[in-house]
Amino acid sequence: MAVKQFQAESKRLLDLMINSIYTHREIFLRELISNASDAIDKLYYRALSDGDTGLSRDDFSISITPNKEARTLTIEDNGCGMTAEDLENNLGTIAKSGSLNFKKENEPKEDIEIIGQFGVGFYSAFMVAEKVTVVSRAYGSDEAWKWESSGAEGYTMDPASREGHGTTITLVLKANSDENNYDEFLDTYRIRELVRKYSDYIRYPIRMDVEKSRMIEGTDKDADGKYKTPEYETYTENEVLNSMVPLWRKNKSEIKEEEYNQFYKDKFHDFSDPLLVIHSSTEGTATYNALLFIPSKAPYDYYSRDYEKGLQLFSNGVMIMEKCADLLPDYFSFVRGLVDSQDLSLNISREMLQHDRQLKLIEGRLEKKIKSELESLLNHNREKYEEFFRNFGLQLKYGVYSDYGMHKELLQDLLLFYSSSEKKPVTLKEYVGRMKDEQKYIYYACGETVERIDLLPQTEALKEKGYEILYLTDNVDEFALRIMMKYDDKEFRSVSADDLGLETEEEKKEAEKQVEENKDLLAFLRDSLGGKVKAVILSQKLKSHPVCLSTEGAISMEMEKVLNSMPMPEGEKVQAQRVLEINANHPIFAKLVKLYADGNKDRAAKYAKLLYNQALLIEGVSVEDPLAFSNDICDLMVE
Ligand code: ADP
Repeated sequence: MAVKQFQAESKRLLDLMINSIYTHREIFLRELISNASDAIDKLYYRALSDGDTGLSRDDFSISITPNKEARTLTIEDNGCGMTAEDLENNLGTIAKSGSLNFKKENEPKEDIEIIGQFGVGFYSAFMVAEKVTVVSRAYGSDEAWKWESSGAEGYTMDPASREGHGTTITLVLKANSDENNYDEFLDTYRIRELVRKYSDYIRYPIRMDVEKSRMIEGTDKDADGKYKTPEYETYTENEVLNSMVPLWRKNKSEIKEEEYNQFYKDKFHDFSDPLLVIHSSTEGTATYNALLFIPSKAPYDYYSRDYEKGLQLFSNGVMIMEKCADLLPDYFSFVRGLVDSQDLSLNISREMLQHDRQLKLIEGRLEKKIKSELESLLNHNREKYEEFFRNFGLQLKYGVYSDYGMHKELLQDLLLFYSSSEKKPVTLKEYVGRMKDEQKYIYYACGETVERIDLLPQTEALKEKGYEILYLTDNVDEFALRIMMKYDDKEFRSVSADDLGLETEEEKKEAEKQVEENKDLLAFLRDSLGGKVKAVILSQKLKSHPVCLSTEGAISMEMEKVLNSMPMPEGEKVQAQRVLEINANHPIFAKLVKLYADGNKDRAAKYAKLLYNQALLIEGVSVEDPLAFSNDICDLMVE
């Protein structure tokens, strides 16, 4: 009997299970029952859609048999079963091994995290068993196969026999030790308790023979009809352990928060409780129950290509699709859960589903529901909402930006941006509510961190006026605001825009006069920068700082940075139209005026370059020629 090797990653996972110090070992039972239920689902669905299997719902069940003498626990189902090939593929390797890549580089930190994060399924049996035997016969096949393994050394495969289709899994429990008593899993009370705790909603009966005791009839009275101590006999009853009502079909008022949380963690393999539970039932044009969850943390692959959005789709309690992407818009792709529709046909194919009117209706309803639940969280539990936004806010902002801004109305009130004056994230509504009477625009500033943005010279004048500024730190932020253009009729304006709309008519006239007086100097400075800037102007937004950069036109410095960080041919890099702003009230300007008037043009040109490079640095853009910049400064130092 040749021993076959596990695929490398499976072996590591197995090792982890076998040596697990995970305290919730009991979940192995839930995992095996879930697998059994899935296997029955598969066959039941086939029976319903083919119609020629002759199977009905009542034919299916899962049974649990503890055997105290042999110290075995057997879990059996009459689901779809597995062929020899299935057994090898499903149990010898981890199909979704992608999710285990994490272990290559970094050693597992905590079993608990890994078990929670990936829902290890079948292998969890090795947390309690020293040997696992799986005998399975695929539906429609007349041969059965036995897969057996005592751990990481490998597994064997042999022909076997089994009556009817389905799978029988037998666990030989590990020996008890001082710390661990595995016998508890042979105890019928304990098993019943575990099934009720974790698997109550499984929609097929989970049966177990339970020893009970009853009074032998007539033994409570003697021949004269006087009461006496009765005699008892034990008998065996085949008990159904679970209530079988799916959680989502139960009344909200009957469900405890804990049940929702447990259901979520079990079904969606998350270790943490969900941040928000949305349970809704509707009738009318679309009749369905939906049970949705917002995870408390973004899954590790959420912002990657590997992440697949979607909800489980049920038709009258039968699962017909594991991940139905059409039920969720991209901007709510973080939502997990299920929808059980009363109006969908079971036979529906994926292609047909996409065009299904019912499904479209449900999607629309869910979208509204999710939005209103998020809004209510925002209004009633700000702290929790902020936590949500830290995890998934980016997705909402992408949502505003995507599809040419088509969803901005829906999403704009869910956005948060850091406020310069409140020193915390605020909504656009809150911002507009606080705007000063004369304030024309909603101001924002971009940069890598809030701390850096706060130092930007461009924010000086606005701060002096007491205007609030939104600090944008995510790449997508400015793109999102630009596509929105306005909120509540107020335009967005970057602090780096050439016109912040701050001056009064009088101030404008004064400024124009000043520009006129220095016209030649400004043109000279611009020319000496050799086309790097479109103009050199006298700034209205600087108070104490000497220089800053602003931009004219559609592309800002921040957008230039973002766009150019994407892979693009060299020739197609974009460039913002830069404007160098100089503070006319700063001594450096007086110096420039003097140099120019004295005919010391070389010097003035050198200063222009230095100022330009300084402005770049302040903006967080690297100077083009650091060597020349350094040499220019050294020249000044030795003079
Ligand atoms: P998961 O259930 O997350 O896919 P498991 O490791 O629990 O991962 O199971 C791997 C696969 O083995 C399942 O996807 C299923 O195809 C198969 N399987 C497990 N248990 C059974 C069973 N009782 N009947 C039929 N197939 C099963």
